[in-house]
Amino acid sequence: MSTEYEAVIGLEIHVQLSTRTKMFCGCELSFGDDPNVHTCPVCLALPGVLPVPNAKAIEYALQIGAALGCDLSPVSTFDRKNYFYPDNPKAYQITQAATPFAVNGRLGDVRIHHAHLEEDAAKTIHTGGAGRIQGSEASLVDFNRGGTPLVEIVTEPDLRSGAQVREWGQLLRATIKQLGVSDVNMEEGSLRCDANVSIRPVGSEELGTKTEMKNMNSFRFIERGIEAEVARQKEIVASGGTVVQETLHFDPATGELHSLRSKEEAHDYRYLPEPDLVQVIPTQAMIEEAKASLPELPAARAARYEGLGVNEQAALLLSFEVDWAEYFEGVLESRDGIDPRVAANWVTGEFAAELRKQGDIPLAEAKVDPASLATLIGLVNDRKISHGAGKTVLESMVSDGADPETVVAEKGLEQISDSGELEKIVIQAIEDNPKPVEQVRSGNEKAIGALVGAVMKAAQGRADGGEVNRLLRQHLGL
Ligand code: ADP
Ligand code: ZN
Ligand code: MG
Repeated sequence: MSTEYEAVIGLEIHVQLSTRTKMFCGCELSFGDDPNVHTCPVCLALPGVLPVPNAKAIEYALQIGAALGCDLSPVSTFDRKNYFYPDNPKAYQITQAATPFAVNGRLGDVRIHHAHLEEDAAKTIHTGGAGRIQGSEASLVDFNRGGTPLVEIVTEPDLRSGAQVREWGQLLRATIKQLGVSDVNMEEGSLRCDANVSIRPVGSEELGTKTEMKNMNSFRFIERGIEAEVARQKEIVASGGTVVQETLHFDPATGELHSLRSKEEAHDYRYLPEPDLVQVIPTQAMIEEAKASLPELPAARAARYEGLGVNEQAALLLSFEVDWAEYFEGVLESRDGIDPRVAANWVTGEFAAELRKQGDIPLAEAKVDPASLATLIGLVNDRKISHGAGKTVLESMVSDGADPETVVAEKGLEQISDSGELEKIVIQAIEDNPKPVEQVRSGNEKAIGALVGAVMKAAQGRADGGEVNRLLRQHLGL
C-alpha cells in the first residue's frame, strides 16, 4: 500500500506601509519616480547618522496586529539582520527578531505566528546588457525604496493547498486594504509573499523538510508554484529520494522551478540587538486605539452577508472590496423586502458581468446607481419582465445610465400579463408543433421544452416561464 502525502504550507508576507515617509528617516515614499531622488544620509547609511522610528508606521503596524487578532506586545525591540548586498547600504537591515510587536493571531483558518516591523531594501535592477549602461551587464540600485516601512506577517504552517493559499491570501489582502495602511498592490510590490512548502504522510503531525518559494507577484502564480512544488516533492519521495532544503524560484511563464540557493549557501544573519534604537513601548491608549479603530473587516462582513442568506461565494466577492460591499448594501436599502440572496446574485453576477463586458468599467465609474439596480431586480422579481428581458434592460442601464422602467416601456419588454393573450399564443404553439405535442402525449414530458421555446419565441421573451408551463400543461391535459 502506498502512503498518501499532504501538503503543509506556511507563508511570510511583506506588506509595505503607506506612510508618507520612510521607517527611520524623513524621505518621502514614492513609486515610479526617477531613481534615487528620495534619499538622505540615513537611508543611504552615510557614517554617523542615527535612525528615528516613524510613529505612523508603528500605529499602522498595531492596526494590522489588531486586525489579525494578535496579542500586541507591551514592549518590542529592533534587531540588526546582517547581510552584504548592494540593496542594503548599512550591510544590515533593521528588523524585529527577538520581540516582534504582535504575536499569536489568527485570520480565518490560519494561525498567525507573529508580525514584525522592518525596513525594506533598495531595489536592484539587473540590466543584462540591455539597460542604460550600453553593451555591458550592470546592476543598478534605486534607493527610493530603501527604508520603506514593512510589516512582515508570518503564519503557522496551517495551509494545505495552493488554492487555499490563494483564497486566504486574498482575504489577508482585503483585510489590510480595508485598514487603509497599505496599497497591497502585488504587481507594484507593496504586498509580497514567500511560501514555505513541505509534504508529510497524512495523519502525521511532524513537519517535513521545507523549501521556500520567493516573492511571487500574484496569488494565482503562488497557487501554481505551490502545486508544482508539491508535485515535485511527492515525486521525489515516491521514487525513494529525500527533499532537500532550498530556496526556489517559480517561473510562471514556463511552469518550472529553479533553485536559487541550497541550505549550505543560506545566510547566517548574526542577529544582534539594534543599539541605536530604544524599545518600542506603545501606551495602553495606543493599543486600545488600534483595536477600537478597526472597521468591519472582510471576514466579519462575509459572515454577516451569509447570515442574510447570501451564498458563500457572492458573500466573499462582496466583502473583499469595500466599494462593492457599499454598493450591495445600497441596493438592499433602496428597496423594502428585497431578498439579499437575489440582490447579491444580481450585483456579483449579471451586473458585474455587464461592467466587464462593456470594457471593464470600474464600479466607481458605473452609471447605474444602487437604487436603479434595485428597481430592475424588483421588476424581474415581481414578474413584470422576464429574467432575459432584465438582462437586456441592464445592458442599456450600464451603457447610458438609462432608467429601467423607461427602457422597459420604450422597448416593450413588459411581460404579457393578460393571460388571455398568452393563452392564444399557447394554443397556436400547440397547433403549429404537432411533433412535440405527440411526444408529450405519448409520455415524453421533456418534449414540452420545445413547446415552451416556441411560445417564448412567439411572445418575444415577454412571457413568464412558469405561466407558460402551466398553460401548456393545462391545454395538453397533463
Ligand atoms: P526558518 O527558521 O527557516 O525561517 P520558521 O520556523 O521561522 O523557519 O518558519 C518560517 C515560515 O515557514 C513560517 O511561515 C512557518 O509556518 C513555515 N514553516 C516552517 N516549517 C515548515 C515546514 N516544515 N513546512 C511548511 N512550512 C513551514
Ligand atoms: Zn532617507
Ligand atoms: Mg524564521
